[in-house]
Amino acid sequence: MGDPPGLRVRSGGGLAHGAGLLNPAKEGCGVFGAGYGAEIGAEFGAGERLGVLTTQPLGRILDYLAPEGGCSTGDWVEVPLGPRRVMGVVWGKGEGSFDAAKLRPVGRVLDLAPMRGELRDFLQRAGDYTLTSLPAMLRLATRAPGLGDAPASRRVYRRGHGEPDRMTDARARVMDALDAVGGAALTLSELSQTAGVSSSVVKGLVTQGVVAEEEAPRDTPFPHLDPGLAGHALSPGQAEAAAKLRASVGGGRYGTTLLKGVTGSGKTEVYLEAVAECLAQGRQALVLLPEIALTAGFLTRVEARFGAKPAEWHSGVTQTERRRVWRMVAEGGAQLVVGARSALFLPFRDLGLIVVDEEHDTSYKQEDGVLYNARDMAVLRASLCSAQVVLASATPSLETWANAEAGKYTRVDLPARFGAAELPEMRAIDMRAEALEANHWISPSLQSAVRARIAAGEQALLFLNRRGYAPVTICRACGHQIACDDCDARMVEHRFLKRLICHQCGAEKPIPDKCPACEVEGKLAPVGPGVERMAEEVAERFPDARVAVLSSDLFSSARALKAQIEAIAEGGADIIIGTQLVAKGHNFPLLTLVGVIDADLGLQGSDLRAAERTFQLMRQVAGRAGRADKPGEALLQTFQPDHPVIRAILSGDEEGFWRAEAAEREAAGMPPYGKLAGIILSAPEAQPVFDFGAELARRDAPLRAIGATVFGPAPAPIARIRGRHRVRLLVKAPKGAPLQAALTRWVRQLRQPPNLRLVIDIDPQSFF
Ligand code: ADP
Ligand code: ZN
Repeated sequence: MGDPPGLRVRSGGGLAHGAGLLNPAKEGCGVFGAGYGAEIGAEFGAGERLGVLTTQPLGRILDYLAPEGGCSTGDWVEVPLGPRRVMGVVWGKGEGSFDAAKLRPVGRVLDLAPMRGELRDFLQRAGDYTLTSLPAMLRLATRAPGLGDAPASRRVYRRGHGEPDRMTDARARVMDALDAVGGAALTLSELSQTAGVSSSVVKGLVTQGVVAEEEAPRDTPFPHLDPGLAGHALSPGQAEAAAKLRASVGGGRYGTTLLKGVTGSGKTEVYLEAVAECLAQGRQALVLLPEIALTAGFLTRVEARFGAKPAEWHSGVTQTERRRVWRMVAEGGAQLVVGARSALFLPFRDLGLIVVDEEHDTSYKQEDGVLYNARDMAVLRASLCSAQVVLASATPSLETWANAEAGKYTRVDLPARFGAAELPEMRAIDMRAEALEANHWISPSLQSAVRARIAAGEQALLFLNRRGYAPVTICRACGHQIACDDCDARMVEHRFLKRLICHQCGAEKPIPDKCPACEVEGKLAPVGPGVERMAEEVAERFPDARVAVLSSDLFSSARALKAQIEAIAEGGADIIIGTQLVAKGHNFPLLTLVGVIDADLGLQGSDLRAAERTFQLMRQVAGRAGRADKPGEALLQTFQPDHPVIRAILSGDEEGFWRAEAAEREAAGMPPYGKLAGIILSAPEAQPVFDFGAELARRDAPLRAIGATVFGPAPAPIARIRGRHRVRLLVKAPKGAPLQAALTRWVRQLRQPPNLRLVIDIDPQSFF
C-alpha cells in the first residue's frame, strides 16, 4: 500500500475523543430536538403514529401505532414484524411515508425502565461515529436474555448440606460448579451446563439434600455499597489526587481526567475515592477493566472498601445474571458495575463516573462486529450524561497524553510508589556480547541474575510475549514451513496441547511425524522460542526451581488462572514465565527481577504504534518487580541497546519519549494529529477484491473534497483469513474533517459484488 512517505505506517489510530465526537454542550438531552428524548418523553395517544427501533437488521426505524393506553419515547415495546414479535424502543414520531391504514399497533409496552434520552443519544452518536447502523447499536445495548419476560420467580440451585453418599465424576463436577460461584444460585440449565452433566445428576443430589432447590425472585437488587466506610489512609500524594477527583465528581458535570501513576502507586486506591464520591451523590459508577482475570481481585477490593460486591458484566457472567444486572442498572438497583467494554452500553439510570483502568490497553478496541474503542466511547457517553471519566494508566496512550497536554483532559499524577516500593532499576543486556548456545535464549548475565534472586528466596519473571512452544515449525530436509490451510499464517506449535494452532483463526492440527511437503520423516524442527520452550530451557538451567507458566491459552477458565496467580503471589513459584498477560495489574510481592527475553520483539514491523507499544509494555512488565519492600531490577535482553526506544525505556524519560513521538506524528499528520480509517475488503476470490479496491481508490473525489488521501489497495498483512482474501485501503484525513460523511459518500459510489465484504474501521488500532 502506498504508505505516506517517511513513516512507520501500518496501523493507524485515533483521537476519537476530542473535536467532533464530543459536544458537552448537549449534556443530557436527546438527539431529536424538542420533545423527543427529553427525560419526560413525548406521549403518544392510542392510535398515534410512532417510530420503533428494533434490533432487526432492517436499517431503519419502523412505524407503528401507539397501543391502548398510549406510550412514550424511550418505552420498550414488543411489536409485530411479519409473523414474529420483536422487541424495540419507541424512538420518536413516525416518519409518515408508509400508508397509515396499513400500520399495525404496538403489541405491548414492556415492564422495563424506558431508555433514557442520554442512552438514545449515545447509541445514535456512537453509531454515526463508527458508521454502524442503529439496529446494530441497539443489539449492543440489549445483550441480556428475556428482557421482556415478566419478573416472576424461578427455580434455582445452590450448595446444600453434607456430601453425596457416593462421589462420581459427574457429581464432583456439580459440587465444583457450585463452589465456584461461592454460595450464589444457578438455574438448572446453568448448573448442568457448567458441570457438563445431565439434569438428572443434579436432581439426584437434590434428593440427598446436598444441593438445595428453591424458588427465588428474579432480578433482585445488588447489596448496598456504603461509600461512608473508611478506605485506607492515603499518602499525602494520593490524598491530593483523590481530593481532585472527588471535587470533579462532586461538580456533577462532564470532564475527563488522566490519572497517571506508576504501577503500584495506588491508582486503584485513588479512583475508588472518586467512586465513593459518586455513590455518595446517589449516582452510579462504572469501572472498566481490560481483562476478566483482573475482576476477581478488584471485586475483593471493592468489598473491602464499600462492604459489598458490585455488579459484574463480562463474558463470564451467566445469562440469568446478565438479565439481573441489565434490569438493576436501569432501575437503580446496582450502584457500581465492574466490567468489560460492553458494559458501556448498559442502561444506567444515572451514570456519574466511568473509570477506564489501564486506558492504553489494546483490548478496549473491539476488533470485530461493531468496531469501537471503549475508551473513546466512555468519553462520549460521559459527555452526554454529565459524568466524569477517569483514565488510569502508568503508561497512557499517546492520544490521552496529547489530550492532557492540549488541556482537554485534566492530568493528575501520582508521583511515587506507595510505601517503600520503588521502581526497579532498568538495564540492558547487550546480546551481541553474550555467548549463547544454539536454541537457547537466556543469556549468561540474565541466568546469574535469576540465580541470585532465587537464592535470596525471591521471585524472577521471564517475559516473552509469545504463546506456545515455537512460532515456526520448519522441515530441515526441504525448508517447508507448516502453515494454516485457510490463513496466510504459520502454525504455532503448542507442545503442552500436542497441537499446531493457527493464532489467526484457531484452526488446529496434530503435530505431524513427517513433512507435509517432502514427506521426509523426523526432520521437522521448531524455530524460535515461545513461553513453553522457555519453560524447557528454564528447567534445564534451574533444575531445582519451581516454575509457573502464565499464558492465556494454558488455562481452561478464568478461575483456574486466578488460582494460579494467587498461588504465585503467595510464593508458590520461583520463576514465572509469562506473556503479556502478566503485564496487566497483578500483584506479586516477592517478585524482584524481571528479565525481558526479547526486548526487540515489538520494534520489528512497521506499525505506527510499535514504539509506543514497546515502551508501554516494557515499562509495565518492569513495573511488576519490587512492589513490596524489596527493590526490584529489570533486565532487557536486546541486540540494539542504542535504539531510541530502548534508550527511552531505560532512562525512564517518559515525557521526553512522548514529546518525540508526538512531534513525529504531528509532522506526518498522523493520529492523534490527523485521522485514519481502515477499509478491509474480503472475498473468497482474490482478483475481484483487488479490482474493487482499485476502483474505490480511483474514485476518490469525495475524499479529496475534504482533504483526505487514500492509500492502497494492498494485500492485508495477513492476506488470507479463514479462506477469504483480504485487501486493505487506508484513508488519512486532516483532523476535524467530516470523515464519516465523506467515507459514506465514497463507498456508496460502487455496488458491492455479492461475496465481497467491506468493513470500515475508524481509528484503526491494528492493521492485521
Ligand atoms: P496501582 O493501581 O497504581 O497499580 P494499587 O492501588 O493497586 O496501585 O496499589 C498497589 C498496592 O498498594 C495495593 O496492594 C494497594 O492495596 C496498596 N496501597 C496503595 N495505597 C495504599 C494505601 N494508601 N494504604 C494501604 N495500601 C495501599
Ligand atoms: Zn488459520
